[in-house]
Parts: sequence; C-alpha cells; structure tokens
Amino acid sequence: MTGPPGRRLSGRHLKGLLVALTLLVAFSVAWLRFAAPAPVAANAASELFSAERALVQLRLLLGDEAPHPVGSAANAAVRERIVARLLALGYQPEVQRGFSCGRYGRCSEVQNIVVTLPGGPEAVLLVAHYDSVPAGPGAADDGAAVAALLEVARVLATSPARRNTIVLLIDDGEEVGLLGAELFMAKHPMAKQARVVINLEARGTSGPSMMFETAGPTAGLVRLLAGALDRPITSSLFSAVYEQMPNDTDLTVFRRGGLVGYNVAFLDDARHYHTAQDNLQHLSTASLQHHGDNALGLLDALAAADLEALSRGGDAVWFDVLGFCVVHWPRGWSLPLALLAVALLWGGAAGAARRQPRFWSGLGWILGATLAVIVLVTTVSAVLVGLLAAAGLVHQFGANSAFPLVGVPAVVAATVCCLVVRTRRVQRQSEAARYAGGWSLWGLLTIAVAVLLPEGSYLFIVPALAAGLVALVARSPAGGGWWVWLASLVLLLVMVLLWFPVVLALVAAVGLFGQLAIGAAYGLMATAAIPVLGLVLPPRTVRDGQL
Ligand SMILES: [Zn+2]
Repeated sequence: MTGPPGRRLSGRHLKGLLVALTLLVAFSVAWLRFAAPAPVAANAASELFSAERALVQLRLLLGDEAPHPVGSAANAAVRERIVARLLALGYQPEVQRGFSCGRYGRCSEVQNIVVTLPGGPEAVLLVAHYDSVPAGPGAADDGAAVAALLEVARVLATSPARRNTIVLLIDDGEEVGLLGAELFMAKHPMAKQARVVINLEARGTSGPSMMFETAGPTAGLVRLLAGALDRPITSSLFSAVYEQMPNDTDLTVFRRGGLVGYNVAFLDDARHYHTAQDNLQHLSTASLQHHGDNALGLLDALAAADLEALSRGGDAVWFDVLGFCVVHWPRGWSLPLALLAVALLWGGAAGAARRQPRFWSGLGWILGATLAVIVLVTTVSAVLVGLLAAAGLVHQFGANSAFPLVGVPAVVAATVCCLVVRTRRVQRQSEAARYAGGWSLWGLLTIAVAVLLPEGSYLFIVPALAAGLVALVARSPAGGGWWVWLASLVLLLVMVLLWFPVVLALVAAVGLFGQLAIGAAYGLMATAAIPVLGLVLPPRTVRDGQL
C-alpha cells in the first residue's frame, strides 16, 4: 500500500474505528443474547407459558418462605399446596410414599407427587423437586421448577390428546441424595413406561435457563431440541464440562434407569445457591419464563415424537447461535471437518507463498507472535479477573450482569497484545503472511481438539472453516488487500460471537474461580485479532512500499 502519508493515516484511522466498532457490537450482542427472555404477562393467551402466572403460584406454595427439607412440617405444607393446585386444575394427583436410600448412605421417608396424562404406551417424564435445603426456602432450587411445572400442567389441562403419555413428577428428598427419584424408579409402575425425561434444576437465582446435560445418545435429543426451543442456550461443551464436575441431580438416577433426556437449569448468581438468599426477592422472573418455555417446548415436541427412535443413534456436537438456533453435526464428523478446514487454510497459504518471496519467514514470525499473544492474553486476563474478584469488584459467583467488569480483562489484554505484536519484524510482514501465520496455529489446534475433545471442537472448526474459505478465495488474483482485511474483520466477529458466550457460561458455571479457563478463552479469541492488527497500528517502522 503506497500513497501520501496523510491519506494512509486516515485509512488506518477508519480501519481502527471499524475494528473497535466490530468488537463493541460483537461483545454487546453476545452478552445481550446470553440471557433469559422477557417474562410473559399474567393476562397473556392461555396456551402460553406465563412467568407472572407461575410466580403467583410460587408465592402461594412458598407461603412464609420457610425452608422445607424432606420430612419437615414445612415440607408437608408445601406438598399439600402443590396437591391442592393440581386438584384445582382438574388432575387426580397421586402421592407416592416410601422409604428410600440414596447412593451416599442417606435414607429417609419421602413423598413424591405424580400426575399421569394418559397417551400411548411410552411416557415422557417432566421432573422437579419440591424439597429445599435446610438453609433457605429454595425459591429457585427448585421452587421455580415446581412453579414452571404447575404452569405447564395448566397449559396441558386444556390441550388436545397426545401420542405419548406424560408423567409429571414433583419429587421429594433430592437435596439429601436424590431419594424421591430413586423411589420413583424403584417402585412406581410408570417408571417402566418412561423413556425420556426433562429435569428442571437451578444452581443460582438468575440467568438464562440452559440445557447443560444430556442422558443417552445425543444426536436424536439435540435434533428434537433444535426444532422445539425458541431461545436455546446449549452446547455439547457444557455437557462435557459438567461431566467432569462432582455435582449430581435427579437426572443421574434416571440415566442409571436407562432413560434418555435433558437437564435444564439456570446458574447465574450462584452465590445465593443453597443459602437463605435463594428466596423470592432474588429469583429472576425472566429465568422462570425461560425455564417454563424450555419445559413446555421440549414436552410438546416429545409428546408427539417417536421416543424409541430418540434413544437410538449416536452422539452429536452442537451449539446455539446467539440463542436463535442450534447447529449440530454427528460427533464423528468433527475430525473430517477439522481436516477440511485445515486443508483449505494451508491451500490458501501455499497460494500466497507462491506470490510472495518473503512469505515463509514472515509466517514463522507471525506463528511466534500468535503463540505469544495466546500466552500473554491468557495470563493477563486470568490475573486481572483474579484481581477484580479479590478486590471485591465482582463476586466470585456474581451474575453475568457484571459483564463490563468481566469484559475489562479482554480490553486490557488486547492492548497488551497489540504492544507485543507491534515489533518491527512482525509489522513488516505481508497481509497474507499475517493471515496464514495466525490461522496455521489455529488449524493445528482445530485438529487436536477434534481428536481430544470433540464436544468442544465447534469452537475451533467454525472459525477455521470460515478462515479456510477466505484463504481459498484470497488465492485468486482478485484477493488480497482490503478484501482480506475485511474478511479478517468478519472472522474476528465470528470468533467473539462464538467464544464470548463460553466465557459467560464459564462465569455462571464455575464463577471467577475459573479465571484460567476464562483467560484462555480470551487468549484464543485474540488470535483472530492478529491479521487485522498490523493494519490498525500506527506505522512505527514501516516505510512506503513495505506493506
Ligand atoms: Zn435442586
């Protein structure tokens, strides 16, 4: 690129502005979409799930908001109110009583509430637990789920007959060892008919209701979910990460019993979890709405589905795109997709190498710079996130509403990253070398992750495929210059939109204790910035004709 210094400077300013705007829009959109939908009003159409209607029931159920652990008088009072509500809706609820022992040696007398809506020989199970921990009223865990289930029951009471039987199970003794679920699976006659389960949980008091765990082969489950939910927030990565955590829910019992199914929960403000703060005051009505929308959406689809077919087939890799839709592919496709992306990337790089004599040495420098950026941004972000938490500016288990603070490390780290990349050698390289260097490392990572953790491979495959396509097109004589730069900008956008929700999910799931993982996510995101950086930074050492 040559020309009068004045014009080149203004071009750089324009590009810099574009990068800043792209980043601002990408981070903000990803943040705004990683949220529960607005609550539906109490006077909305009766076939809709309304969080305001559900909240009225939840207030009645919780009464004076006394803790109601299994076996307590308050537990009996809550149970009676649930039964009364189901009777008022026209159902004949059954109370299943029994002595049950869990896997951790705790035993107790438990009382499950069961409602059966007859249909075909196979049944879908919708589950929530009504017991709380002794420390608090459990308005979210699992009161919100019980209220959601009752509002779903209200909708079902007036809807037409279905292909499959539906069983609503509001179980007891979950908090002391999944006792109610154990009793249901061991003794209830409907356990034999049940094929698929939807379990509703909470591990915080706000945030989006996410489908974070599955039981059984995932391909069929995810295909059904993709068509059933209005605002899906889910990913095969969440599922893989959750498997590594020591937590258990009722789904564990159903999985052991041979059922397939979904675990759905909201996790934000996890500092309230299992405390007196898990009360009506802190419960987000939007989370309640999302919970209900998810439960009703999945139940509607399952009630009409071939349940036997759902439990066949293999596993999938999946992720939601900003809560708009779910993209999924068979797990076995991950490695071929990764190889295809890398072939495109390296094919493009080879084309550029033929055109530019200093390409390979440039590529080496950019590879080194990319590694440095990943390590640096990871370290700086992790340290900053840790400092923010230590200084009390963000709670370790606060909500994602602390986004501007959680986002600060990204901005600071990106600035550091700019300073690192702004060496003479790196800045002197051609756009093609900067591009190929940045994405070659990415290609290697894509193959490694596709082999080692296919559930998380989408985070690498999607940007690599996009970058590979750009590289392929850029080989043509029309490629290069502004075109490559704009394409790189689009890739930066793709990267942030794909990766930032993972940061938000991490903050919700493991809190800021996951600072190293959060830092690594920022570090990998930053690699997409490298191809555009050289064109944004002031030309410190570049003379005319070098770029
Ligand atoms: Zn719970």
